[in-house]
Amino acid sequence: EAILELSGVTKAYKRGEAGEVQVLRGVDLVLKPGEVVALVAPSGAGKSTLLHIAGLLDTPDAGEVRVGGQAMQGRSDRRRTAVRRADLGFVYQFHHLLPEFTAAENIILPQLANGVSRTEAEARAESLLARVGLSQRMEHRPAALSGGEQQRVAFCRALANSPRVLLADEPTGNLDPGTSDQVFAALMDLAAGTGLGALIATHNLDLAARMDRVLRLEGGRLVPA
Ligand code: ADP
Ligand code: ADP
Repeated sequence: EAILELSGVTKAYKRGEAGEVQVLRGVDLVLKPGEVVALVAPSGAGKSTLLHIAGLLDTPDAGEVRVGGQAMQGRSDRRRTAVRRADLGFVYQFHHLLPEFTAAENIILPQLANGVSRTEAEARAESLLARVGLSQRMEHRPAALSGGEQQRVAFCRALANSPRVLLADEPTGNLDPGTSDQVFAALMDLAAGTGLGALIATHNLDLAARMDRVLRLEGGRLVPA
């Protein structure tokens, strides 16, 4: 009952005439529902490459990626995009919220794109924002929010369509430690009881230690930290 499974995933990049750099050398990962897993590694180790492959934004050279038990190998771009939209949520170091829309609209729009009615989308945005303590900020645009508030909205947006898996690349990398704690606590509240699984790349070892498991990307493989 893994919701995300990587087995034997490899990836190399061409580096000019000099040949290629082998970034992933056989990554294995089994993420279960409700599990929040930290991904730690020095920069350049391949975290973003791994998250892009897990997020169906890039394909491995070899190995398998399964989302919700479905093998993704050989699937069309259209199919992969459909799975990405339905089952995966993304959060980045910088929030990437749409600046001209309010916090609520940023959470409503991806739902409308997914065929949800406006009434339902508004109700869900309201409830997500309430759970992260932002009921009073619904009508604010991103520029009027603090960094921690922006990231809490970004988490709400990532979860707007109830994905099975959240993939986060340094989601607190731009925040001070106290704010990081708040944002992380908000994520745990959002995830509680939903069965959401999360893979969260972070340099913050205090946060990593509070997750269910810590994996280190080392020599192109994932090892328990
Ligand atoms: P991290 O996220 O851990 O910093 P990345 O996955 O971004 O690591 O990168 C891992 C290695 O692969 C780095 O050496 C980087 O320079 C290289 N790399 C990443 N993306 C590309 C690319 N598109 N083309 C060539 N090399 C790349
Ligand atoms: P759409 O056509 O709806 O924009 P995409 O396939 O482009 O759908 O993107 C689906 C999801 O993947 C979105 O959540 C988007 O933020 C994310 N995404 C798309 N491209 C990238 C990228 N290059 N790096 C990271 N995330 C991306």
